[in-house]
Amino acid sequence: MTRVTVFPLRPTLVRDTRTMPSGAPADDLGVAAGCIRPLSVENTVEDVSPPDRLIRAMRPMVPSTAVVTDLHAHTNRSDGSHPPAELVDIAAALEVGVLAITDHDTLAGVEEALARGRATGVRVIPGIELSIKMPHGSMHLLGYFTDPAPAPLVGMIAGFAATRTERAEQMVERLHGLGLPLDWQDVLDGAAGAPLGRPHIAEALIRGGYVSTRKEAFDLYLADGGPAYMGSDGLDAEEGVRLVLESGGAPVLAHPETLKLDDAHLDPFVGRLARAGLVGIEVHRPEHTPDQFARFGALAGRWDLIASGGSDYHRPTSPHHPGATGDPPLSTDTADHLLGAVLR
Ligand code: AMP
Ligand code: ZN
Ligand code: FE
Ligand code: FE
Repeated sequence: MTRVTVFPLRPTLVRDTRTMPSGAPADDLGVAAGCIRPLSVENTVEDVSPPDRLIRAMRPMVPSTAVVTDLHAHTNRSDGSHPPAELVDIAAALEVGVLAITDHDTLAGVEEALARGRATGVRVIPGIELSIKMPHGSMHLLGYFTDPAPAPLVGMIAGFAATRTERAEQMVERLHGLGLPLDWQDVLDGAAGAPLGRPHIAEALIRGGYVSTRKEAFDLYLADGGPAYMGSDGLDAEEGVRLVLESGGAPVLAHPETLKLDDAHLDPFVGRLARAGLVGIEVHRPEHTPDQFARFGALAGRWDLIASGGSDYHRPTSPHHPGATGDPPLSTDTADHLLGAVLR
């Protein structure tokens, strides 16, 4: 029998404005169903300041009673338009109670978002969206952490940025080959130090007068498989899953549809990742059709993965606002389940 230690938590520990709703009953402090994990630490925290490790272990066990949870959003530290604090303010205004910051290949927005989360009552989850090298289609792997600077991942960020710069340079060369003499320096300036992505190239194409909209830039040149598109050249899928796990995080497969695999190929691929330690898969995304929702939900069930998701919000012109996670929406205890699954 598994012995489960349930702590008589100190009120100051659990009545955390980041996880408790305003006006929640004072005794509404039960442990979320399914999130109870046996911990190796004993309860010696009654009168002493609890060690960080204990707090980190407890946090995912505190039930999330937030109104809305969104586990996929970008800031201007990658290819979004809002500074991290502003994104958290928007989330707060939209009554998003739990928000993961998942910038492309960087953790640079996490600290600022966490600080703003403490000030506004939004529970900010440190996260990242890693680009994965794939022979066909494109794959993004989300990672969710309790630590804002998870090692060894944090030590690899500079390398990811260098890989992205090289790739963007190659895409700009392809555009040159297509007769569009796009200014590389303008691409760099537009990104303002963020790891370079296709949206930065799209914006430079607009500024240069080569296209009039972002959509045109993608439709004509940059979309997956487009004439200027280059795939990612970094970690492969299993390396990505292992890296997130080794860094104490929960790996989640983002937007499975971009893998461009039919069921006969998607199922064994997800199975392989599940065996490598994948914890979740995005099921709840606002653009998912009922058919995609059913397909990816079934995959989650089959491979014992947590059905995760989010808005993938980037900017005010994004098709969906922060907190939009589809119908039915993302379950509000998803962050606890994901983080609870990799407690150590
Ligand atoms: P990258 O990481 O450089 O491959 O760029 C991926 C990002 O480009 C995505 O997160 C979106 O922000 C954006 N993106 C990808 N495909 C499209 C598209 N067809 N239209 C508009 N934006 C897109
Ligand atoms: Zn993006
Ligand atoms: Fe993505
Ligand atoms: Fe994204």
